Amino acid sequence: MKVIVIGGGPSGMMASIKASENHEVILLEKNNRLGVKLLMTGNGRCNVTNNKDVNSFISECSKSTRFMYYSLTEFSTKDLINYFNSKGCPLIEEENNKMFPKSNKASSILNVLEKDLSKVDIRYNHEVLDWIIKDNKVVGVSTNKGDIFGDYFICATGGLSYPKTGSDGKGYELAKKLGHTITNLYGIEVALVSNDEIILSKELMGTSFNNIKVSVVVNDKVKKSIKGDLIITHFGLSGPAILELSAFVRKNLNKKVDIIISTVDDIEFDKKTLGMCIKGIASKRWLDYLIEDQNRNISEISKKDLNIIKEKLTSFKVNIVDTLPIDKATVTSGGIKTSELDPRTMRSKFHGNVCFCGELIDVQGPIGGYNLTLAFTSGYISGKGIDFC
Ligand SMILES: Cc1cc2nc3c(=O)[nH]c(=O)nc-3n(C[C@H](O)[C@H](O)[C@H](O)COP(=O)(O)OP(=O)(O)OC[C@H]3O[C@@H](n4cnc5c(N)ncnc54)[C@H](O)[C@@H]3O)c2cc1C
Repeated sequence: MKVIVIGGGPSGMMASIKASENHEVILLEKNNRLGVKLLMTGNGRCNVTNNKDVNSFISECSKSTRFMYYSLTEFSTKDLINYFNSKGCPLIEEENNKMFPKSNKASSILNVLEKDLSKVDIRYNHEVLDWIIKDNKVVGVSTNKGDIFGDYFICATGGLSYPKTGSDGKGYELAKKLGHTITNLYGIEVALVSNDEIILSKELMGTSFNNIKVSVVVNDKVKKSIKGDLIITHFGLSGPAILELSAFVRKNLNKKVDIIISTVDDIEFDKKTLGMCIKGIASKRWLDYLIEDQNRNISEISKKDLNIIKEKLTSFKVNIVDTLPIDKATVTSGGIKTSELDPRTMRSKFHGNVCFCGELIDVQGPIGGYNLTLAFTSGYISGKGIDFC
């Protein structure tokens, strides 16, 4: 069969690799190279997957991701780990079962995929504009370089986040044209916006914190706390801990939402001066902002004032008013409604020779290698599914 794959991200590359085992494959990518977003992942280190079993993997993802249960048993995180290990790109496990290439370079992951695409006819700078439909059947695609015909189509054009990487939402338009429903789209793993003076003054822009407790407070009640890194930006708060909490914050934006920065979980004022007690617990810039006159002797500070200082250090509140827009989000939540696809093949229930995979469909997980796994696995199943025709 002649298979046309649209999009050269992780899902499209994996779909092409699998499909090319038994079929002629043309991969259409609008950029002049493959995997532009992949190279940015994990801060250039690529948190490619995680070492979780199917049940714990799915339990961390959105409800709609249960659709991926079959796929993840067919091509699991373990299979993905074995795949890269066996291709000369060993992975190493870090905290929370996150898997990274030992080289610490996303390019090592891309190199493996590109090598495995040797049987695929890759056409760069080819942007798919529309379907060519005859007698209610998709027979080809129109591109900026002309029409291309085929027997089977795999659409892997990604979501809406970081559109400069190529994923600008075109796939949703293509899916809608075939009768598919697109669920509500919004950004997840996204930085948070605050109008508090501490942010608007830009005084602390760039101040970062390592492995501190960060909590979400909704209507003055602590609802969620995690440990992680955080950075104060010109618009609000960012960093891994904030991105991880952002989906929960977003759900509560219609209420009063604050983020609590716990510089320390607790503090004892058991040294001579205030400065001695707080020395080294955070950056000097942050401590200077929070606490005036650090040369004061502890014995000269009232209990009430010490409690105020303690409060600032253990629970500094920043009010959150919004998240950054979807184009600045790491991942798009929502997409093609999964009930309109066959979970064993990713095939459209409306057009039997078209399937969809990757971030384009309504499956998503948190930070930690979930989204790349979903892209690779759904791509693999799409490529394999052709043989069930
Ligand atoms: C900064 C950043 C860091 C991230 N880090 C991680 C991480 O460490 N771990 C993790 O699991 N996930 C991470 N993610 C998420 C992950 O990168 C995505 O979920 C994943 O890339 C989705 O893969 P995809 O193949 O579905 O789409 P994409 O990677 O977006 O690829 C889609 C491809 O389709 C092409 N395309 C689009 N429209 C057309 C068209 N009309 N014609 C032809 N080609 C088209 C695009 O140019 C692009 O190459 C990160 C995302 C970002 C933005």
